[in-house]
Amino acid sequence: MSTLSETEPEIYPWQAQQYAQVVSQIETDRLPHALLLAGQSGLGKRGFALTVAALLLCRTPAGGLPCNQCAGCRLLKAGTHPDLVVIEPEKPGAAIRIDEIRELIVWVAQTSQQGGYKVVIVHPSDRININAGNALLKCLEEPRPNTLLILVCDRVSALLATVRSRCQRLNFSPPSRVVSLPWLADNLTDRSTAELLLDFSQDRPLLAVEFAGAEFLAQRKALAEGLKRIWQGDGVATEVAAELMSYDALELLDIFSFWLHDLLRLLMTKDEKSIKNKDMIDLFNLICMRLERRNLIDFMDRVAEERTALIGPNNPNKLLIVENLMIQWSGLARH
Ligand SMILES: [Zn+2]
Repeated sequence: MSTLSETEPEIYPWQAQQYAQVVSQIETDRLPHALLLAGQSGLGKRGFALTVAALLLCRTPAGGLPCNQCAGCRLLKAGTHPDLVVIEPEKPGAAIRIDEIRELIVWVAQTSQQGGYKVVIVHPSDRININAGNALLKCLEEPRPNTLLILVCDRVSALLATVRSRCQRLNFSPPSRVVSLPWLADNLTDRSTAELLLDFSQDRPLLAVEFAGAEFLAQRKALAEGLKRIWQGDGVATEVAAELMSYDALELLDIFSFWLHDLLRLLMTKDEKSIKNKDMIDLFNLICMRLERRNLIDFMDRVAEERTALIGPNNPNKLLIVENLMIQWSGLARH
């Protein structure tokens, strides 16, 4: 168990309604003892949970927000508030262990050290195995006064039904562009990429920020150059594949298949406005000059098959997969 504050609590513009609901429940003393924050990753649910915790632990909140100045807020900021615990797997993707939940049960039974609320955040709560889930159920079945349990969950279906049914659920969905675009643009060094990043992240703004920070744009550029060279007969498929190996192969395939969908749209509609990757229009036009729809659809199937192989359990050879695709791409170019 740990207390932490490495992420500043934040309410994002697309969470205003959910936050207003929680604030109103706090103000009217109708807060449930467990909240389930449900929705895809990349929507800021963890930040939401931390802000709710900050609000409950603040001694002098104003206007539904923590004051950021009182002793409670200072302890939280320092990551040392004794009445908050955040339970997270030791490594991303690992499970939350039953002994952590057992420690939690002991902690929940103690009285609050600062005399106010106690808050537990479990994130991501779909990483709890059955035993740990059953232990957690004990906390939920015997709620303590002034104690809030917040479960942050990307895949609600993976959560024990008995745990789920004892929480009040708050749903988070990908926001509309009217809300997400201005926020994202303000959080990027290159505002012009905001729309593209939202397309690629399927409208999950925090994931979009992650893509921007990662090598996403450099990777797209390298893929575009490689595909163009092969298409024009200036590049050898295996050499291009070797160059592309400095990037994440799965992301590479996802970018590629996103482009292939654009190519199909362009072939079918002849309308440049129909495509999502607007910055790639010159490359797409070049390719569409001698690409047949049926060949493209076949190739899209190949990419989907290679993607399945790549995420499969059989220790796939990434270079071989990317090489295969580039060789087939060069076949398509010569068709
Ligand atoms: Zn405060």
